[in-house]
Amino acid sequence: MTFNHVVQFLQTLAPLAHLTPAEISILKTPHHLHQAELHLNGKKYPAFRIQFNNARGPYKGGIRFHPEVNEDEVKSLAFWMTLKTAVADIPFGGGKGGVIVDPKTLNEKELQVLSRAYVRAFADHLGSNIDIPAPDVYTNGQIMAWMLDEYEQQVGYHDPGMITGKPLELGGSLVRDIATALGGVFVLEEAVKKLKFKGKRIAIQGFGNAGMNAAKLLAQRGFTIIAVSDSKGGVFDAKGLNVDEVVKIKDNTGSVQNYSSGKKMSNEELLTLDCDILVPSALSEVITEKNADAVKAKIVLELANGPTTPEADKILHRNNILVLPDILANAGGVTVSYFEWVQNQSGYYWKEEEVRARLREKMTEAFGKLWSAWEGKKYDFRTATYIHAVKKVLAAERLRGKV
Ligand code: NAD
Repeated sequence: MTFNHVVQFLQTLAPLAHLTPAEISILKTPHHLHQAELHLNGKKYPAFRIQFNNARGPYKGGIRFHPEVNEDEVKSLAFWMTLKTAVADIPFGGGKGGVIVDPKTLNEKELQVLSRAYVRAFADHLGSNIDIPAPDVYTNGQIMAWMLDEYEQQVGYHDPGMITGKPLELGGSLVRDIATALGGVFVLEEAVKKLKFKGKRIAIQGFGNAGMNAAKLLAQRGFTIIAVSDSKGGVFDAKGLNVDEVVKIKDNTGSVQNYSSGKKMSNEELLTLDCDILVPSALSEVITEKNADAVKAKIVLELANGPTTPEADKILHRNNILVLPDILANAGGVTVSYFEWVQNQSGYYWKEEEVRARLREKMTEAFGKLWSAWEGKKYDFRTATYIHAVKKVLAAERLRGKV
C-alpha cells in the first residue's frame, strides 16, 4: 500500500470517526524519517528507519531486507504498526525499517555485516525506551541477535529489550514462534462465540509461519482444515486434510501440493472454495473486487497483512461476511513481542503457559472492546477497528497537549 492510500484512507475515515483536520494532520505525519547508506563489499545499500508515532509508547516495528523495499512503503507500514499496537492495547507506538537488498545474494558473513551496519547507522535512535525493532520479511532471530550485539557494543551496556524476536538464549520469549497464528485463533474463537457460528470447514492460503501454525492450532481445536496452499498451489479434501501429514510433505518436498490424498487446486480456487472460514495467510491484495463476490466463507480471518482490497471489503460486507481485520487478527505477533520486552525489562522470564494465557487475555479483551464498539453500527467491523485505533492514538496525543 502506498502512503497516498494511507492518506486517502484517513480522509474516508474522517467523517465516521469525527476527525478534525488537525487530528488528521497528526495521524498522517510521521515523526522521523531516518535514512542511511550501508556499505558492504564496495556497494551501497539504502536503509530506512521510520518512526511514525510514539504517543502511546516507544516506536515498534520490524525491519525487512528486500529488493523492493522503498521509503513510501516503509512509511505506510509504520503507520499501520501505530494502529496495530493501539488495537492490541500494548504500550508502544509504530515504526518500521528496511534495507533495499536481495538477502539471497549475500552469504551469512555478509548478512551479519549488513545487519550490524544497520544498527550502527541508526543506534542513536534505537533503544528499549525509544524504538524497538523486530524481524519482518527476510529477517529472523539470528539477525536480531547480531543487531542486539552490535547495539550493546555501541552503547556499552546490556539492553535486550531494544529488539524483539530474539533467540531464547538472548532473551527471546517462549511462544513467539507461533504467536501470530495463536493470537488469530483466539480472535476467531471469540468471533465464533459471538456469532454462535457452527461452521468448522477452514481454507488457509499460505503455509508459512502464520498459515502452517494456524492449520496446526485449528486442527487441534476440532476445526476441519479442508484446503491449504503455498506459492506452488493448493491441496483440498472435503473430508479434511491430515495437517501433520501436510506439514511433513511440505518439509520433505517443498510444497503442500505433493500431499497425495487430496485434490490439487490453485490459490485462486482456494479463495472461493465452499468453506466456512477463510484464512488468507500469505500475500496482500488477494481478495479483490474480481473475486470477492465468489467468496463463500462466512468469516475471513486476515493473518496476512492487507489481503483484502477496499473495494473487495465493501462486497464482503454487503454479502454479510465478517472480516476479522489484519491489525487485530495478526496482532498476536507484536503482542508477544511486547511480552518479550516486558520480560527483558524485568529480567524475569515466563513459562510457556503464562505467555499463552496472557496472549489469550490480550486478544480476547481487544476483540471484546471492538465488538462492543461495533454492535449496531452500519459500517463493517474493520472500520470499527480503525476508528477505535485512531481514537486511542489521538487520546494519547490529546493528553500530551498535541491536539
Ligand atoms: P512466511 O514466509 O513464513 O510464509 C509465507 C507463505 O506464503 C509460504 O507458505 C509461501 O509459500 C506462501 N506464498 C508465497 N507466495 C504465495 C502465493 N502467490 N500464493 C499463495 N501462497 C504463497 O511468512 P509469514 O510470516 O507466514 O507471513 C505471512 C503473512 O502474514 C504476511 O502477510 C505477513 O506480513 C503476515 N504476518 C506475519 C507475522 C508473523 O509473525 N509471521 C506477523 C504479522 C503478519
